[in-house]
Amino acid sequence: MVSKFNKPEDGTEIILATPDDDPVIDPETISKSTTELKTDSNTDFEIDLDTVPDPETYSANHSDLEKTQSSEFSSKSPSKSWWKKKRWLLPFIVLITGLILPNHWRIPVMGANSNDWHPKTFWYEPWGSSITHKGIDIFGPSNTQVVAANHGLLLYRGEFAKGGKVVVLLGPEWKIHYYAHLASFNTDRWFYQSGDPLGTLGATGNAKNKPPHLHFTVFSLLPYFWYADATTQGWKKMFYLDPNHYLIKN
Ligand SMILES: [Zn+2]
Repeated sequence: MVSKFNKPEDGTEIILATPDDDPVIDPETISKSTTELKTDSNTDFEIDLDTVPDPETYSANHSDLEKTQSSEFSSKSPSKSWWKKKRWLLPFIVLITGLILPNHWRIPVMGANSNDWHPKTFWYEPWGSSITHKGIDIFGPSNTQVVAANHGLLLYRGEFAKGGKVVVLLGPEWKIHYYAHLASFNTDRWFYQSGDPLGTLGATGNAKNKPPHLHFTVFSLLPYFWYADATTQGWKKMFYLDPNHYLIKN
C-alpha cells in the first residue's frame, strides 16, 4: 500500500510505502472464509473466531496507524528532524561549553605565595629526561594541604614513576591540571571546586630526597599557537602553559 502525504512546510509530496505490505483484509472475505472453514466437515481443525480480527477494530487501528505516520510529517516532525539535521553541532556545543566555564585560579598549596616558587622554574633546562621543566615547583612544609588550583573533573588519581602520587583534573577551557609528588591523597571525588583539598605536600616519585614541593603543570588540550617560540622544545609551549600566568594576580 502506498500513501501520499504533503509535507506542510514546502508542499513537497512524499510518497510512503506503508509497512503493511500484508494484504488488506476485507471483512466480508474473512467472515465468509471462516464460516466456510467451520462448516467444512472434512477439516479436523477449527479456527477460533476470537483470533480473527474484528473488522471494525481492524479498520480503526489501521486508520490510527495512518494518522501516526502522517503526523510525523506535520506536528512532531519539525523539532525532531531539525535536531537530526543539526546533530553535527553537538561536538561544538560541548567544546564551547568547556570554553565558557568560569575559571577560579588560586595557588594550589595552602598558605603559599608567589615567593614559594621560582618564576623561572617554568621551562628551566636542562631537566633530565624531560629536557625542559614543564611546570612550576611550589615549596612548603611537609604535609601542607594541597588544594585544587581551579575547578576540575577528576581524570586520574594514582602513582606515576616520575610524578609519584599525582592528581589529574580537567578544568575550564579544556585545560588539564597536573599535581605531582603528593605525600597522601584526600577523599576521592569526581569533581573538585577551586580550593578543595586534594592531598598533602610531599616528595614522592623522582622528588625523593628533595625538599617537599608540589609540581604543578597546566596542559591545554587546545593549542595556543602564539605561545610557541624558538627555545628548546619551544613548540610544546602551545600545550604546556606557564602557570605563572594563572597563579600570579596582576
Ligand atoms: Zn617540577
